Amino acid sequence: MATLEVKDLHVEVKEEKDQTREILKGVNLTMKTGEIHAIMGPNGTGKSTLAQTIMGNSAYHVTQGDILLNGDSILGMPVDERARKGLFLGMQYPAEIKGVTNAEFLRAAINARRPEDDQISVMAFLKELDKNLELLDMSKEMTERYLNEGFSGGEKKRNEILQLLMIKPSFALLDEIDSGLDIDALQVVSKGVNSMRGDDFGSLIITHYQRLLNYIVPDVVHVMMDGQIVKSGDADLAKKLEKEGYAGLRDELGLHV
Ligand code: ADP
Ligand code: MG
Ligand code: MG
Repeated sequence: MATLEVKDLHVEVKEEKDQTREILKGVNLTMKTGEIHAIMGPNGTGKSTLAQTIMGNSAYHVTQGDILLNGDSILGMPVDERARKGLFLGMQYPAEIKGVTNAEFLRAAINARRPEDDQISVMAFLKELDKNLELLDMSKEMTERYLNEGFSGGEKKRNEILQLLMIKPSFALLDEIDSGLDIDALQVVSKGVNSMRGDDFGSLIITHYQRLLNYIVPDVVHVMMDGQIVKSGDADLAKKLEKEGYAGLRDELGLHV
């Protein structure tokens, strides 16, 4: 079992004229493999900032608190090292990479996380790739194209889940994987994530809307407002939010943000 702990995390970003602004104002969150957590919240409250900071995006400056993976701080580690330790961020590789096919990229990403003397064989890789392409209803042709080049929004999202299934991280941070998807694509993407469920996998699913959580039912739901987690509960909390809106929760908690 692996654990990911976010402790009293404060994060600043730089704005124009070298002004800084605090975005995360003391976030606490503990998750274990085997669990799926969802973070919901209004736009601009810091959900993506949390995911980016956990993954190590250098635009986000941690001014207080810590992020621990299996009890050890990862704050000093660059993105690629965090990836090798088992963290995955959806849309981590959104750039088009000319001259590298999607399949080549996937094999390199898998091998980067394995010791030199235990690299995945071409045969084993292709077998795994075929299995996952079928699960995601994707054509083989997608993997022979250059990474992300000319991919539509929906194809990028599907490809993101293909990366997840192939790389098999301990923890996946999935930021708005549902945005812009039609219902069929949403079901496929959800099927992919659900197929990862198990003792060795945990996920933090960030979504603005409750709809995705009908398909990927979370164990824990957190609501983030103004840079803090203001409430946590089970899957019913998401349903309640859908009904009452964030305004209802603000009133309930006596918040004025
Ligand atoms: P959410 O994902 O909840 O919509 P974000 O984390 O994307 O919220 O953004 C929270 C706030 O931080 C917003 O006001 C946004 O403009 C600001 N912000 C996020 N990233 C950056 C950045 N790299 N530079 C400057 N401001 C940023
Ligand atoms: Mg946003
Ligand atoms: Mg966001």
